[in-house]
Amino acid sequence: MLGIGKTGWIEKDAPVCGPLDALVKPLAVSPCTSDVHTVWEGAIGDRHDMILGHEAVGQIVEVGALVKDFKPGDRVIVPAITPDWGALESQAGYSMHSGGMLAGWKFSNFKDGVFGELFHVNEADANLALLPDDVDMAAAVMLSDMVPTGLHGVELADVQFGDDVCVIGIGPVGLMAVAGAKLRGASHLYAVGSRPDCAALAREYGATEIINYREGDIVKQIMELTHGKGVDRVIVAGGNAEETFAQAITMLKPGGRIGNVNYLGSGDYVKIPRVEWGCGMGHKTIAGGLMPGGRLRMEKLASLLSTKRLDPGKMLTHRFNGFEHIEEALMLMKDKPRDLIKPVVIL
Ligand code: NDP
Ligand code: ZN
Repeated sequence: MLGIGKTGWIEKDAPVCGPLDALVKPLAVSPCTSDVHTVWEGAIGDRHDMILGHEAVGQIVEVGALVKDFKPGDRVIVPAITPDWGALESQAGYSMHSGGMLAGWKFSNFKDGVFGELFHVNEADANLALLPDDVDMAAAVMLSDMVPTGLHGVELADVQFGDDVCVIGIGPVGLMAVAGAKLRGASHLYAVGSRPDCAALAREYGATEIINYREGDIVKQIMELTHGKGVDRVIVAGGNAEETFAQAITMLKPGGRIGNVNYLGSGDYVKIPRVEWGCGMGHKTIAGGLMPGGRLRMEKLASLLSTKRLDPGKMLTHRFNGFEHIEEALMLMKDKPRDLIKPVVIL
């Protein structure tokens, strides 16, 4: 990212490895919708000559003197969120906010990201995980962000056995939320989106109905399908701050929960409809969060791939080989052709 709205290639000095850190060479990377928000919407403010990218698997090139469990040559999963584990926020259980709100998100935010020949990982022992040999490298790139974010939406909504669940947005994040809700025991699983390929994959991952928001009000469609009852849980992984939130609150049963992982990129306020919120007494909860990182989390999610409980590789619609194709993959993410779900670049 050269500046807001501008991308290109730059030369930078290699990062320096601190005693607890690692330097990693990327083996496979994927651009994210958040990279698009960063460059073309100025979502995190102005950034100059910053290397983009926060989704990668890689190979360790160097480790600091105090790193215990990793060595050069190890192939690793690199989470998008790399907290400072000693921070008070981490001790309180919210490592993604270590050092301040959302500050666990460092790559392509406060420091250079993973679309470089070499990148820096802080606190390697706590933030990296070994890539299991039986996990496909391209699919494993989805462990950086898409899998943990979609599954965190499910955790935030606290999906229980037999719940009726609606997932709003079935891009890669929402698709992982659909798969996660199925793993958590959802019964009726309504998936909201309009792209046919995403809809087909949502069905494969466990959606029982597809709701097309372009074909009418989604609340009306959900209410018809649930005979006026609404759903127990809503996971928000797409849509806009005002309309989508109001819809989510409205379609929720009393006592229901919303898990939001969508980036709310515009407007000053999120609107909560008063009557639909039971005039403030509806026991409807909103939980929104940035994905958790950390080695333990990454190892557990990787074992979902090893045991074939989850196959995020199905989302990879566009595959490239070679560093020079990163730009093309990023532009695909920006332009979102209708057959795109997620691109991956093998290096
Ligand atoms: P996509 O753009 O690929 O998917 C968005 C989805 O929302 C699509 O299915 C789209 O439908 C749907 N949608 C768009 N408008 C509406 C609407 N008005 N009503 C209902 N659905 C709508 O995004 P990603 O899956 O890549 O990412 C989703 C969000 O998650 C982004 O905001 C991203 O920044 C955020 N994110 C959050 C993270 C976290 O830690 N919390 C980490 C990573 C990403 P259609 O089929 O028409 O395209
Ligand atoms: Zn991301």
